Amino acid sequence: MKNKNLKTASICVHSSAIKDEQFGGVNSPIYTSAAFDYRKSGVVYPRYYNTPNQLVIAERIAALEHGEAGLVFSSGMAAIYSAMMAVVKSGDHVIFPLDLYGGTHYMAVQEFPTLGIDFSFVDASDIANFEAAIRPNTKAIYLETPSNPTLRITDIEAVGKLAKAKGITTLIDNTFASPINQNPIDFGIDIVLHSGTKYLSGHSDIIFGAAVSSEAWIKKIYAKSVIYGGNLNGSTCALIERSIKTLAVRVKQQNENALALAHFLDDLPMVRKVNYPGLPSHDGHETAKRIMHGFGGMLSFELRINHVSDIDLMVNSLKMIAPAGSLGGVESLITSPFLTSHAKIPTAERLKMGVTEDLLRLSVGIEDVADLKADLLYAIEKVEMHSLIA
Ligand SMILES: *Cc1c(COP(=O)(O)O)cnc(C)c1O
Repeated sequence: MKNKNLKTASICVHSSAIKDEQFGGVNSPIYTSAAFDYRKSGVVYPRYYNTPNQLVIAERIAALEHGEAGLVFSSGMAAIYSAMMAVVKSGDHVIFPLDLYGGTHYMAVQEFPTLGIDFSFVDASDIANFEAAIRPNTKAIYLETPSNPTLRITDIEAVGKLAKAKGITTLIDNTFASPINQNPIDFGIDIVLHSGTKYLSGHSDIIFGAAVSSEAWIKKIYAKSVIYGGNLNGSTCALIERSIKTLAVRVKQQNENALALAHFLDDLPMVRKVNYPGLPSHDGHETAKRIMHGFGGMLSFELRINHVSDIDLMVNSLKMIAPAGSLGGVESLITSPFLTSHAKIPTAERLKMGVTEDLLRLSVGIEDVADLKADLLYAIEKVEMHSLIA
């Protein structure tokens, strides 16, 4: 069934599924073959990204992102790098946000110089910074909003308009929002990228990526992808298809839980600050209301601590929420960006990014919110008691 007139939750369940003509099973059959009879199906081959199970999820994610076409990859980074290489070449300049996923940051600083591609980082919460960074050879603006780990919001509508006027291609990493909460193509963004490892798969057990855009852009990204070879196999695609069936209900619950926890934490004296775009006090709240359908399942907060070891005490005192670096799964996870993902960045730069030693990032799952509150409160009270004694 194609997606033409379906609404989001129905796209999640049905769009582009393969009809089981032979047995009438209700799920898409899994095709594991790496060799296909060319007289029957044309040239079908996993690295050509055209096997039946790859097409199901590529088309379904494209439908969810309101794009003409999509491609799925073996990781989010495969999607990001393939798309980037389709857009820029030696001599070009790219503008990135200061708050950028570590792997993408590494791609820019490590790989771009060897390719002769120039780049700048800007504070993406103010559109004027993008305008000021544009050079005659700027070919791409790359976005990530809400940002990691401080949940800053970029006005993608404004950046889309600016880029269109200047003939610059826009790419966005839409991982944090998921296609349920944000559809950047509706605001004129050209290429939408996902680490499907997070919300799209939703159970912290699959790694994959996706790119969605116009037919024309996907053709160009495809030309790079067949060389890099970051395709998926049929069984993984079937698991992804199953995961996406529940995407809309999972994200809806995560939005609800995160908003409740944001208010809960905001009311605790031990919490200095909560970063969540759904809070009216958040700098990007009005923009988020305009560009997002929901505020997402990610939040971060600053705890009043005496020493960075209090962060370990907090994390070690949690019983249900696990310390782990990934996000978007049904289970709630917590990390200290200062001690983990951002540990190697010089402290002055970390502070500029808002990555303070008292910051904790929470990926909110679908557990009962009362249990999440109780778990957080117990751990925060441990820190409070410890600071009273100390
Ligand atoms: C995890 C992540 C990536 C990288 O995805 P992989 O699937 O690990 O390659 C890119 N961007 C964001 C925002 C992420 O969270």
